[in-house]
Amino acid sequence: MASDLSITPEHRVTSSIRNRAPSTFYDLTLDELTGKISELGQKPYRARQIYHWAYQHLVGSYGEMSVLPKSLRADLSESLPLTYLEPVRELEADGGDTLKLLFRTHDGNHLETVLMFYPDRVTVCVSCQIGCAVGCSFCATGMSGLTRNLSAGEMVAQVVAAARRAREFERQLTNIVMMGMGEPFQNYEATMKMARILNDPEGMKFGARRITVSTSGLVPFIDRLAKDPLQVKLAISLHAPNDELRDTLVPLNRRWPVEDLILACRRYVETTGRRISFEYCLIKDVNDSDDVARDLGSLLSGLICHVNVIPLNPTSAEPSYERPSEERIQRFARIVEESGIPTSVRYSRGVDIAAACGQLRAEHEEGRVA
Ligand code: SAH
Ligand code: SF4
Repeated sequence: MASDLSITPEHRVTSSIRNRAPSTFYDLTLDELTGKISELGQKPYRARQIYHWAYQHLVGSYGEMSVLPKSLRADLSESLPLTYLEPVRELEADGGDTLKLLFRTHDGNHLETVLMFYPDRVTVCVSCQIGCAVGCSFCATGMSGLTRNLSAGEMVAQVVAAARRAREFERQLTNIVMMGMGEPFQNYEATMKMARILNDPEGMKFGARRITVSTSGLVPFIDRLAKDPLQVKLAISLHAPNDELRDTLVPLNRRWPVEDLILACRRYVETTGRRISFEYCLIKDVNDSDDVARDLGSLLSGLICHVNVIPLNPTSAEPSYERPSEERIQRFARIVEESGIPTSVRYSRGVDIAAACGQLRAEHEEGRVA
């Protein structure tokens, strides 16, 4: 199952499970929409108008696009639904500062999106797959393997829904993090298409540098991202400075070991000049010792980067894993920092509604969300 993928060739990892979602409006770049609009016998400027209404006014239906002729609105409603994602339920935590949105897909799967309000920013955490094939030992998302990839449109729809929800609180979405369910580099094309659609100046104009793609370490895609014209930010889920430890936490480390991963990160920084964030999920007596902190510091030395220490969030993935004491968390971060690597401790939002890092699973039975 999941962890076997760590030893399969890269092309099989990425092409084995195809997305089966039917195409919708949110799947289309402006060029693709323009083609579609011409097929319907309309002028290209209509496509730009539709993009404005969908992504700037955030309307939820063609019916509300009052500048369009009625017949076009009807044609589009018939032939190109905005999305098939249906909101099912919303949960709230952190005194309303964190919202977990649960959606049902056209094929009866469920996915989760987390919206987080901060004083200075509003971040949406987007899912890119139903489940995950990587199967990290501390993460609930990977527990039942991968069901399927999400389409670009299913990811865009999550962002639009979050932007609308934020607007209801008179806030504007400022950041997108691909840190929900799934491994973005096992769904690279769709993830980057999502970023291009949201970045379009005729649409949401979402700055690429406000979009962060987080990966458990598929090396070939780090190199690919470095060459992508869209300058999104990269986060690497590292969790350990050596193979012995990382093999037990992130199964695909056996395919792309720490040394290869860090070399790819160095190439990335050299090519792009952009800083990398390293995520480090801190687990009591597993990867939280002083020695490990020092090894982490030397591994990353000379790299333009930042380390985010994320104290483990409880999941049923590995019940024996515990969060370290507050003192240990701070000490670990201090040692890494003292070795010259900027480091912060990041406490996850939404722990009590299972919306935090590694807790997303979207188990759902009619009327009950686990
Ligand atoms: N698959 C991608 C992105 C989604 S996971 C990745 O692994 O990077 C988002 C982040 O949550 C990752 O950094 C992941 O390592 C972290 N995470 C997973 N389970 C966690 C847990 N139980 N506690 C804290 N962080 C966790
Ligand atoms: Fe997948 Fe990321 Fe969870 Fe690992 S941490 S199982 S890569 S979602």
